[in-house]
Amino acid sequence: MKILVINAGSSSVKYQLFDMTNETVLAKGICERIGNPVTGIFKHKVPGREDYKVEVPLKTHSEAIQLIVDTLVSEKLGVIKSMKEIDAVGHRVLHGGEKFSGSVLIDENVIKAIEDCCELGPLHNPHNLTGIHACEEIIGNVPQVAVFDTGFHQTMPDYAYMYALPYEYYEKYKIRRYGFHGTSHRYVSMRAADMLSSLGKKPEDLKIITCHLGNGSSITAIKDGRVIDTSMGFTPQEGVCMGTRSGSIDATIVPYIAAKENLTPAECEKMLNKKSGLLGISGASSDCRDIEDAAANGDVRASLALNVLCYGIKKIVGSYTAALGGVDLIIFTGGIGENSASTRFGVCQGLEYLGVDFDKDVNETIHGKDAFISKPSSKVKVCVIPTNEELVIARDTMNIVKNLK
Ligand code: ADP
Repeated sequence: MKILVINAGSSSVKYQLFDMTNETVLAKGICERIGNPVTGIFKHKVPGREDYKVEVPLKTHSEAIQLIVDTLVSEKLGVIKSMKEIDAVGHRVLHGGEKFSGSVLIDENVIKAIEDCCELGPLHNPHNLTGIHACEEIIGNVPQVAVFDTGFHQTMPDYAYMYALPYEYYEKYKIRRYGFHGTSHRYVSMRAADMLSSLGKKPEDLKIITCHLGNGSSITAIKDGRVIDTSMGFTPQEGVCMGTRSGSIDATIVPYIAAKENLTPAECEKMLNKKSGLLGISGASSDCRDIEDAAANGDVRASLALNVLCYGIKKIVGSYTAALGGVDLIIFTGGIGENSASTRFGVCQGLEYLGVDFDKDVNETIHGKDAFISKPSSKVKVCVIPTNEELVIARDTMNIVKNLK
């Protein structure tokens, strides 16, 4: 079965075509700068072939998806003979609200429900829908599946997702913790459970803390395969310090700064979302690599930013250990989690009291591959697992679609 995975953003469409007989990627790429008056960029990669990149005007998401499909079937750059070989399309959809706890076959009712969630995910859901409609238009009568970033977190108990605000706001506006990066947390926890099964641990008995640390970061507590808490909240703004987002702060700081600086609500949101986090503290960059370089060259604010990041993650790991009643496994993923040995060390240093025996030397050597970074005798295991959200989307799509036949 061949499955096309689509991740449609505001001005980009990312894609991967999977052959699910052996879960291999046949081709992947991205259309960028869609709607840009000057030009767009199209990148297409096929394993074992030279990468292809071209500048091409892309007015709409439909044009982008048409280009992707034309390329996949083209004689020179393609990997399939005809569009008919695509058995199904899986879409990443940001927000499923309280309606979706798992992936679903897209029909009219699902589209309506995703539309209803646009208010909760205004920066993503409308573009995800555009991608779904464009595939319908171009690929035609092929089953499409929606996989939600929020879905995995829907098992949280009410006392974990409820904010201590007037209850009417939950009833009127659905203000609650939703959590994001669910597909990533799900993938790495399943993969780690596989890795641990060879050590005689059953996945359903594990207490896991997954740290997805990228430009956006979130941490999740998983017990018996179900999420019991997660650090992002009503929006991806909450939780640990991120590239440009503040993470959790005392909420009354916002009206205080707004009054002092004469900021509108939209300007406050921009400050919290785009000007804070690693960038806000360091004043230099939102990129962890740049901050690490600056800190190594003696930049005091860059060092402070890294300390705030590691300390914040460590505090959440500690609180989730309490919430889980112990922890068997701590997982690092995302660009920072997979690559930044110093962040992983900064988080795990001092966790000996929990039973973490961290292997500092092995940690230094691990970049972007599955590996344990705790010593074999460590009571609590620590590992690095590169995330693969697209594979989860392809697997979910296959599992839903194969039952249709
Ligand atoms: P996104 O959330 O946009 O998907 P990624 O998961 O790709 O982001 O993570 C991007 C972050 O990963 C950036 O802060 C980047 O600096 C960091 N990163 C990537 N490689 C390294 C590295 N070798 N060392 C430290 N940080 C890294």
